[in-house]
Amino acid sequence: MTEENQSYRVLLYYNYTYVEDPETFAAEHLAFCKELGLKGRIIVAEEGINGTVSGTVEQTEAYMQELTGDERFKDTEFKVDYADGHAFKKMHVRPRSELVSLYLEDDINPNEQTGEHLSPKEFYEALQSDETIVLDARNDYEYDLGHFRGAIRPDINAFRELPDWVRENREKLEGKKILTYCTGGIRCEKFSGFLKEEGFDDVAQLHGGIVSYGKDPEVKGELWDGKCYVFDQRISVPINQVEHRVIGRDHFDGEPCERYVNCADPDCNNQIICSEENEHKYMRSCTTECMTHPRNRYMEEHGLTAEDVQEKIEARKAEQMQNA
Ligand SMILES: [Zn+2]
Repeated sequence: MTEENQSYRVLLYYNYTYVEDPETFAAEHLAFCKELGLKGRIIVAEEGINGTVSGTVEQTEAYMQELTGDERFKDTEFKVDYADGHAFKKMHVRPRSELVSLYLEDDINPNEQTGEHLSPKEFYEALQSDETIVLDARNDYEYDLGHFRGAIRPDINAFRELPDWVRENREKLEGKKILTYCTGGIRCEKFSGFLKEEGFDDVAQLHGGIVSYGKDPEVKGELWDGKCYVFDQRISVPINQVEHRVIGRDHFDGEPCERYVNCADPDCNNQIICSEENEHKYMRSCTTECMTHPRNRYMEEHGLTAEDVQEKIEARKAEQMQNA
């Protein structure tokens, strides 16, 4: 679908700037967003604002004008994507103590300590240098759907685990120029500052994140493989405009796949990549334990009886034996 016939847009943005009394600001900002008709998720902290919102072209235009009309947010950079509908069901604005959290003893203020910002073009060139290593600053399930070619995958499930991963893997990073990247750039602002605090001198981050890299008219998303995971109903967006290599692998059979679902076990809720066929075969459950959860969502959605579930578990076990 071309941009012209899509009447909705999704805005992704952040700004590290001082916000006095985030609670009051959040309440007022929520009322304003609802009045405009936007949907999405915004976090407000004393250190700034971070949001993803969707709405019509007019609504999102009005929002950008209003926000940048406020002295505190006047230099906010918006990544704008076209869409054929809202990317969220509701509108939330939540006050928090931090925008993104590394749970450090001494928090990083990106306005004081952060890595060098590279434009998409500069990042593209640095990617191809022997002197650099590329470190993905996102979670493992984000990496698994798509990443920069040759990037290191920290096996973490949440951003707060990243500092420990770095401390345990120093030898992978030492003596090189470190390039970091994340979806829109906000995580790298803090993470690259943390790397500098840890004694790594040569640290650079992708300005505007993967999303801006994919829109850059010169680099066109090149050297990105797969798709980019996003935290809204779209689940993922394309980045590389020149070639598309599928790198996601089906959780069950290892076949190329880019379809993410949440495990039907409400206590697990893991993100797994799987085809529609395997979703039904394995009840959208990452393990047999997850299949047996008494409130398994797949079981409820499809009105399965305990016998039906048992049958599927037997079939799964038989298949595993065969493949072992
Ligand atoms: Zn599970």
